Amino acid sequence: MFDYLVVGAGFAGATIAERLASRSGKTVLICDRRPHIGGNAYDHYDDAGILVHKYGPHIFHTNSREVFTYLSRFTDWHPYQHRVQAWVDGRLVPIPINLDTINALYGTSFTSLQLADFFKSMAEPRSAIRTSEDVIVSQVGRELYEKFFRNYTRKQWGLDPSELDAAVTARVPVRTNRDDRYFTDAYQAMPRHGYTRMFERMLAHRNIKVLLNTDYREIEGSVLYDEVIFTGPIDEYFDYQFGRLPYRSLEFRFETLHTPREQPVAVINYPNDNLYTRVTEFKHLTGQEHAKTTRVYEYPQAEGDPYYPIPRAENMTLYRKYQELADATPGVHFVGRLGTYKYYNMDQVVAQALTTFAKIAGVRRAECVAS
Ligand SMILES: Cc1cc2nc3c(=O)[nH]c(=O)nc-3n(C[C@H](O)[C@H](O)[C@H](O)COP(=O)(O)OP(=O)(O)OC[C@H]3O[C@@H](n4cnc5c(N)ncnc54)[C@H](O)[C@@H]3O)c2cc1C
Repeated sequence: MFDYLVVGAGFAGATIAERLASRSGKTVLICDRRPHIGGNAYDHYDDAGILVHKYGPHIFHTNSREVFTYLSRFTDWHPYQHRVQAWVDGRLVPIPINLDTINALYGTSFTSLQLADFFKSMAEPRSAIRTSEDVIVSQVGRELYEKFFRNYTRKQWGLDPSELDAAVTARVPVRTNRDDRYFTDAYQAMPRHGYTRMFERMLAHRNIKVLLNTDYREIEGSVLYDEVIFTGPIDEYFDYQFGRLPYRSLEFRFETLHTPREQPVAVINYPNDNLYTRVTEFKHLTGQEHAKTTRVYEYPQAEGDPYYPIPRAENMTLYRKYQELADATPGVHFVGRLGTYKYYNMDQVVAQALTTFAKIAGVRRAECVAS
């Protein structure tokens, strides 16, 4: 008999399981249908001995001191500032677009002030910013939008940016300085020994039992528990009774090269006709020293594992129907990217899981990470 069944051993499930066990002394069974813990953040050493992320590159960054401090209990960190370049007009240039990007592409030698004027001269004013296209075109105009964003977004989401919520491209800033970091968050680092090791430490509590290769439906009738934390797809939990929530998927193709380093930065974006969107060389992220190197190519797919909730108004309307059902289902708490159909980063999922734990445990949010 367990106090809680936690479905899914990713960031959402592991955070709640750890808190319920350590902070509240509850007994927890955590199951995952995959053969490993860590959810989409799972990493492992490949055949060449290089630490890779099975489900694509995961870069940790957050402005939340609380989330960073909480996770620091389970890992040391390898300092890492993420950098990305895009293959545009036959050359590699920094993305987010910055001063160096424009000067390289147009052969100019603008200063920051001149670049601000250049963007203004290119921008198309929009009365309201509703879609991803509006976000970019209103800042830098159609030409740069076509070069950097349109094809990339169409490949990634299978939709034109004009059909996607503003939130999608609003994640990528446009800069007039030379800052070529992808993120500007206060905390940016990678777990020193990898995500999986961190998850192992989160779940290494005597009150937590981990069951892998197990869909919760296989055990729901045979294991006793009081309440459920569900971090899988919410529409699947309710047997798709209002229809399927759309997700975008990816196929990953890994390659190992007999060279210590292949790319100038961790990620190269391909906003053009190639079928893949980006190529990541893991050693940049992890700092691993090795004579060989492994890269992963990402090919967006309509079918497959549900990786990305698709941010569109009509999808949110459908999600809200499931959310109402979830609110009316006692004893089951929905958390995480799939459980709440939110395009959340890892730190946001941890913060959401901590909030849910605080509610369940009846403690103040600020107190929920006290051990
Ligand atoms: C390609 C890619 C790159 C990303 N890069 C970043 C990044 O750089 N930085 C960042 O902050 N975030 C990134 N993210 C987002 C990050 O992966 C998520 O925020 C985070 O992993 C979500 O954690 P979660 O626990 O909500 O979900 P998940 O990690 O998806 O975990 C849910 C788990 O539930 C299990 N499950 C589902 N249904 C069942 C069931 N019926 N029975 C048993 N188990 C079940 C699944 O197998 C899965 O392991 C990226 C996501 C993707 C797809």
